[in-house]
Amino acid sequence: MNTQDIIAAVEAVHAGILANEDQIESLDRAIGDGDHFINVRRGCEAITAIKAELLTLPPAQAFSRIGMKLLSTIGGASGPLIGSFFISMGRDLEGSPEPDEKRFARALAAGVQAIKSRGKAELGEKTMLDVLIPVSRLLLRLVDEGSDRDTLCAKLKQEAEFNMLATRDMIATKGRAHFLGDRALGHIDPGAKTSQVALFAVCDLLTA
Ligand code: ADP
Ligand code: MG
Repeated sequence: MNTQDIIAAVEAVHAGILANEDQIESLDRAIGDGDHFINVRRGCEAITAIKAELLTLPPAQAFSRIGMKLLSTIGGASGPLIGSFFISMGRDLEGSPEPDEKRFARALAAGVQAIKSRGKAELGEKTMLDVLIPVSRLLLRLVDEGSDRDTLCAKLKQEAEFNMLATRDMIATKGRAHFLGDRALGHIDPGAKTSQVALFAVCDLLTA
């Protein structure tokens, strides 16, 4: 993996988010404050705007720069969470100029851990972590088993979709949706949806 691959992945995620605008927006309107789509789109645009600079950096520094940029660009709860995700991936990848799949899987786990620490959230609280934690765990296992890329991506997509849908039946104990109590039932968590969309976009790019 090099920085060009990271930028290609961000561009794929951006396209995926735009293609799912209506659903993401209506989910955050239902159980949040309606800004999640705009927040994530703004983040993607901010990364694209510094593409030339990123291309001069190795992956570790590119992830850190992306994280800093997102911290200063995206507001709300998700800005610091997504920002710290990338900053921690960058920190984890220091000293690895061309990370392979195993190395990347470990960095992703470090990024997910940063979201958990910063958001003080765990599995089952109806947040983006309900997709990110199981996907990250599965990725670690599949790279360890030496799974081929097509199988790996198919399984990750299945895991992301299943866990995104499962947030529909959860009561939120973190984020704005927790003010709604059981009125949040029946609605998928917007951050879980964008996480699934992002994962699909990257997997589709890698298996195209
Ligand atoms: P805000 O909630 O400030 O309006 P966004 O709408 O951009 O920010 O993001 C909302 C998403 O952030 C939620 O759908 C949820 O997935 C995620 N989220 C909120 N709080 C937490 C938390 N403490 N830990 C992890 N994810 C969280
Ligand atoms: Mg919101």
